[in-house]
Amino acid sequence: MENSTKLRGWLDNFDLNHPLVIAGPCSAETEEQVLKIAHQLKNTDTSVLRAGIWKPRTRPGNFEGVGSLGLKWLQKAKEETGLMTTTEVANPIHVDLALKHDVDILWIGARTTVSPFMIQEIAEALKGTDKTVLVKNPVNPDLALWLGAVERFYKQGIENLGVIHRGFSTYDSSEYRNIPEWQIPIDLQNEFPDLPLILDPSHIAGRRDLIFELCQTALDLNYDGLMVETHYDPDNAWSDAKQQITPETLDKYTIDLKVKNKVSSNEDFNYQLKKLRTKIDKIDENLVDLLVKRMQVADDIGKVKKEHNVSILQPERWKQILERMISLSEGSGLQKDFILNVYKAIHQESIAHQKNIK
Ligand code: PEP
Ligand code: MN
Repeated sequence: MENSTKLRGWLDNFDLNHPLVIAGPCSAETEEQVLKIAHQLKNTDTSVLRAGIWKPRTRPGNFEGVGSLGLKWLQKAKEETGLMTTTEVANPIHVDLALKHDVDILWIGARTTVSPFMIQEIAEALKGTDKTVLVKNPVNPDLALWLGAVERFYKQGIENLGVIHRGFSTYDSSEYRNIPEWQIPIDLQNEFPDLPLILDPSHIAGRRDLIFELCQTALDLNYDGLMVETHYDPDNAWSDAKQQITPETLDKYTIDLKVKNKVSSNEDFNYQLKKLRTKIDKIDENLVDLLVKRMQVADDIGKVKKEHNVSILQPERWKQILERMISLSEGSGLQKDFILNVYKAIHQESIAHQKNIK
């Protein structure tokens, strides 16, 4: 997959001068609902209509989708509006039915990407077709698992590929339903710059007021597209009601969102950027230097503890350090979570150093 530049051929075919927009309801509910939303999206930036036909619910008893009946509604929506269609497939039967109903793009849900067995079965069912497959990130923050799923499709000859970033599940409380962990898709982009990257702000946010900001962040990070859950009556949607927005709001968002250039040839810009980057490089050197010095002190602490047969982990001291650093950084503009993450990483490295003391 490393050298393939064909991966984004399907995206280039849209020939858009803005990021790709995929929109539509979380779930297809009724024929009228699908058609009404499709018509409302028709004259917006949206190119692809999404609707879940089979819904993977975390707990049984919630709305589990209308099933293959809904595929006919998608087909009709395509005929009437010219929008392409996409739905989630989670097994070879779904694939077969989606192909029979001429669904243009198939997406793989987060709960499916976690299972190499399921991915393999779906990939084999798609062998020999020219479908576009978009792979959502797995529920857990694991880049290798995400890429592994993409590779399984590629190995079956599916070369029209892309990924959807929908955030990662966390046990900690957060303002998001699924935390974005932006570094993971950034790492993925660095490794596979040709693989189209699409943001699903709806499943990251879990609530509609965060959607715009998430979309803007994605555009600032050069994402290739957005997949946004859209319903004419979000509050009464049969699934994911809190996170859906109306087609009208989506239209407004796409007008207000700022698409950034990847580079600029402006001389002043390049001069300023170079100067600031030199500054950053110097600070980074100092940071590493300080970390090395800190670890050397940790080594000394490790020796003293070993000599006196005292355990490495001192929860009280660790708690004190965290509290001190959080209070020191208050009002500095650094987020508390950032300080927490940095210090957790430093503490882990420090423990590893102390364990290595012979
Ligand atoms: C969806 O797109 O409606 C969906 C179920 O998404 P995910 O697999 O990201 O949870
Ligand atoms: Mn949903």
